[in-house]
Amino acid sequence: MDIMAHSLWSLVLLPGPPSIAKVAFGIAPDVTVFATSLTVQAFKGKMQPGFKTRQEMMEWYNLKENRWVLNLYKWTHSLIIWGLVIIPLFAYYYFYLNQIPWFLLAAPLHILMDIPTHNNNSFPVQFLTPFSTFKVNGLHWSKPLVFIGNYVLIILAIFFRLFVLRK
Ligand SMILES: [Zn+2]
Repeated sequence: MDIMAHSLWSLVLLPGPPSIAKVAFGIAPDVTVFATSLTVQAFKGKMQPGFKTRQEMMEWYNLKENRWVLNLYKWTHSLIIWGLVIIPLFAYYYFYLNQIPWFLLAAPLHILMDIPTHNNNSFPVQFLTPFSTFKVNGLHWSKPLVFIGNYVLIILAIFFRLFVLRK
């Protein structure tokens, strides 16, 4: 799913006022990978090529020198890894600061949304890394119907939150 949709879903689904932290955790699984990849490319002095098709993009990521990006993506899209990061932080906020840190849940929410909206040809989500390579061959988020349907749901959710729940 695209970064904009992830940001909006984090803001609309998690309780409490909008915050940068919700957006940051909501896009972290992708940003950590692609920012690292762009930085590495910049250091190598090469620009990442522009891709005309998703297949062309995946062929580039499958090159030996770029395959680490796909690997890193598996780790940042693992519910197990995020569990290890989030549970101690959650406990700290909850027990010491008496707050519920909803923003932390934006990262697993991102992964749950990516699982059915990625397919085997384009960054499948191995959400049980490192214990299992299980993945779902879903409906890719860039398919017009999925893409439009997703934003329609986001708009409905925003309206529901603002006008029905009134918060
Ligand atoms: Zn993602």
